[in-house]
Amino acid sequence: MRIAIIGAGFGGLAAAYDLCKAGHEVIILESADYVGGLASGFKEPQWDSWVEKFYHHWFQTDKYMLGLIRELGWEDRVYFPRPLTVMYDRGQFYPFDSILKMALFPGLGWGLDKVRFGFVGLFLRLTNNWKALEKTTADAWMLKWAGRNVYEKMWKPLLIGKFGPFYQQVNMAWMWARIKARTTRLGTFEGGFQAFANQFADRLREMGVAIRLKSAVKSIRRESGAELVIDSGRKETFDKVLVTTSPALLAKLCPQLPGSYLKGLLELKSMGAVVMVLSLKHRLSEQGYYWFNLPKEAGYPFLALVEHTNFVGSEHFGGDHIVYAGDYLEVGHEYFSMSDDELLARFLPALKKFNPAFEKDWVKKVWVFKTNYAQPVPLVNHSENIPAIQTPIEGLYFASMSQVYPWDRGTNFAVEIGRRAARLIAAESNSAIAG
Ligand SMILES: Cc1cc2nc3c(=O)[nH]c(=O)nc-3n(C[C@H](O)[C@H](O)[C@H](O)COP(=O)(O)OP(=O)(O)OC[C@H]3O[C@@H](n4cnc5c(N)ncnc54)[C@H](O)[C@@H]3O)c2cc1C
Repeated sequence: MRIAIIGAGFGGLAAAYDLCKAGHEVIILESADYVGGLASGFKEPQWDSWVEKFYHHWFQTDKYMLGLIRELGWEDRVYFPRPLTVMYDRGQFYPFDSILKMALFPGLGWGLDKVRFGFVGLFLRLTNNWKALEKTTADAWMLKWAGRNVYEKMWKPLLIGKFGPFYQQVNMAWMWARIKARTTRLGTFEGGFQAFANQFADRLREMGVAIRLKSAVKSIRRESGAELVIDSGRKETFDKVLVTTSPALLAKLCPQLPGSYLKGLLELKSMGAVVMVLSLKHRLSEQGYYWFNLPKEAGYPFLALVEHTNFVGSEHFGGDHIVYAGDYLEVGHEYFSMSDDELLARFLPALKKFNPAFEKDWVKKVWVFKTNYAQPVPLVNHSENIPAIQTPIEGLYFASMSQVYPWDRGTNFAVEIGRRAARLIAAESNSAIAG
């Protein structure tokens, strides 16, 4: 079978690997001039490692991602340091990445609130019944079981930070998945996620997969025959097509999809993201903290500050210190239309709160990355609204971040859904041959 995959993100690359191994002719069409999608990175000449445009790490529970890397024989290139995550309380930051540190966190006091926080966390870690949890919002569930103090101090800032105006609509299964599938040890690939994506793409090319960069797909149509026609500047026919872009883009690319499926795609909500990356002459966090969780009401102009070089050492970046300042936002938010200089002027004063010695002239270079599709928003009973991988158009498949639910999006689940889609396509191709 001749199969097109639209998108060379981690999902598309993983699907291509399995489909090519199953003996199919695979062509990846990618609009960008690089592979890796949302997990891609950039590099300065003096760096020996890539920096992800949007901060990225793996968890030890990321079995699909780590399993794929093992299959490829590159597990010796994955490493799991133990960077420090901190939580804000009344102007100070406190380590918050082990049970002991959580117990010592002053923000919850020393009484019942801490016990409730602990029990709710333990329950969510142990239960597998996310179906029951998706029937209610995280807001209502946490208020009831963790109590107002714990909710407002710990969980509400997280929900507001990630989902902004939708924070009271997000279902509790999202929170469950987040607590269930995360570890305190965080991992990366030697050279960065882009190094993995490049090496994976090279392996795919050796296997015979064609990866066509700068090939933006404009439309997908089923014509009278059994084949699908893709227009990416030139028209080509394929037996099967797997789309790995956002739901909104699939709806635009293929208006021929039946109304109910299109409606389902267009009704899915998601948040965008704006992330500024700065290279600094000096280390920002003197304590060596990696990840700062910041509540919006404390007045920071961003949700998270991440000092990447407290995770991957600055020796990999020619001594530069790399800092991210990022936020999840609705697409109409002013940050999307601000220039890089305007955004820098908004963000810079806040850096002094992480190190009073910080001065403007510490900044060597600034990059800003924006995406409309960064974080799907799962509403109550979301499992009923997930578009099927196999679309109603024969031969057309869809695998995106919006379908990995109940899990939260991540490269691990992009690999899982990409490979699941590949299995479906391969199984259908086999039955077509047998028939
Ligand atoms: C701020 C942020 C932080 C994150 N942090 C983490 C993290 O710490 N750990 C983690 O594992 N994951 C993280 N993720 C999530 C992770 O990046 C994604 O889940 C994953 O990369 C999705 O892969 P994908 O292949 O499904 O989609 P994508 O990576 O979006 O790939 C889709 C591809 O399709 C291409 N495309 C789009 N339109 C067209 C077209 N018309 N024609 C052809 N090609 C097209 C795009 O260029 C892209 O390459 C983060 C994401 C964001 C935004």
